[in-house]
Amino acid sequence: MDERPVGVPVDPEVLRARLASELPEAGEAPERVLDELVAAVDPGLVASAGPRYFGFVTGQALPAARAADMLAAVWDQNAFSYVSSPAAAVVEEVAARWVLDVLELPAKASVGFVTGAQMANATCLAVARNEVLGRLGWDVARDGLIGAPPLRVLAGAEAHATIFSALRFIGLAPPELVAVDDQGAMLADALSLDGPAIVCAQAGNVNTGAFDPLGELAAACREAGAWLHVDGAFGLWAAASPALRGLVAGAAGADSWATDAHKWLNVPYDSGLAIVADRDAHRRAMGLSAAYLVESEHRQNYDFTPEASRRARGFAVYAALRSLGRAGLAELIERCCGHAALFASLLREGGAEVLNEVVLNQVLVAASSDAVARVQAEGVCWLGGTVWRGREAMRISVSGYETTEDDVRRSAASILRALP
Ligand SMILES: *Cc1c(COP(=O)(O)O)cnc(C)c1O
Repeated sequence: MDERPVGVPVDPEVLRARLASELPEAGEAPERVLDELVAAVDPGLVASAGPRYFGFVTGQALPAARAADMLAAVWDQNAFSYVSSPAAAVVEEVAARWVLDVLELPAKASVGFVTGAQMANATCLAVARNEVLGRLGWDVARDGLIGAPPLRVLAGAEAHATIFSALRFIGLAPPELVAVDDQGAMLADALSLDGPAIVCAQAGNVNTGAFDPLGELAAACREAGAWLHVDGAFGLWAAASPALRGLVAGAAGADSWATDAHKWLNVPYDSGLAIVADRDAHRRAMGLSAAYLVESEHRQNYDFTPEASRRARGFAVYAALRSLGRAGLAELIERCCGHAALFASLLREGGAEVLNEVVLNQVLVAASSDAVARVQAEGVCWLGGTVWRGREAMRISVSGYETTEDDVRRSAASILRALP
């Protein structure tokens, strides 16, 4: 992993040719299938599991988490219900408690183990939709959405694309956009509420790392009877660090939170967490049947996710948290932020223009799309391009547990070589 180019362009025809075109009539030996699969896909594998992949917000996979996730496949547990896997149910119960603890969220909140923050946003916003329409006198569970009263949904102008897709999935229109500051954080003064509504806030902007003012938003929502949802796919993990938790001050006052385990917790794909303060509201929106009215003595995983049968994702989350411990998690988060700060200072020293205030693990550097392509082609590291306030930029996200200072120095040198 340390030696191979991090991301290399590959002609999909090469992969298609190697993967054989027709399904064989007779089955083949498993060893042969796997050997040939490994050989065939190699040129198409991105070293995102390694220490110099800074694209999107992509964590690596901690050894314990990776092994636990492999066991989830080997044991082939169906995490659907308590009887389908008591182990998966109780592991998720324990991992949920630990997640709430390290994220400093209310201990009585409920946690659904979903595929990622997009599904966590969709899950939480479906709960929000039902509850807020309930306050407006409409029962979504009984009557559906057609004919429902108007429901205001608001989000910061720099809300993540998955807020828009999540709203689309659950039958709601795009949000009204609230003005943001120059780092992309919502301006609390620009939020005007006149009654029940859903407000989508953000903890950690993908470009700048900026946080919406969660405490102020929580107070405003409480006063208006509005639901505050926080998209904190990676930013919520700042709460795990005593040095950084000021950034998420007030987050615990929200009604729901979406986050990822496959980003900063360094759990393998796929792993997201849908968290709701009101456990019963979560069960009313997601549970399978009227049986939700009676709380079983066991955790029923299907109460908290849109899926019924699914992979036992809790094993890897449990293993990641236990192998890091509280101190190791804080150290991981702080180390990544320290590396982001080092990136910013090395790049500035080299003459690059850093466009954001580096408050977390994200660094935004002015760069043409050609320069981004040159970095990607050199293969020392991988990062993606973006447009920030009308300017072309490259986005560096430091989220991996194995990234060292040397990786940062090698990568910064490669970036500076690519800039004009
Ligand atoms: C990554 C991200 C998402 C989407 O998460 P997936 O895990 O890709 O579903 C949503 N919001 C923010 C802020 C993100 O960074």
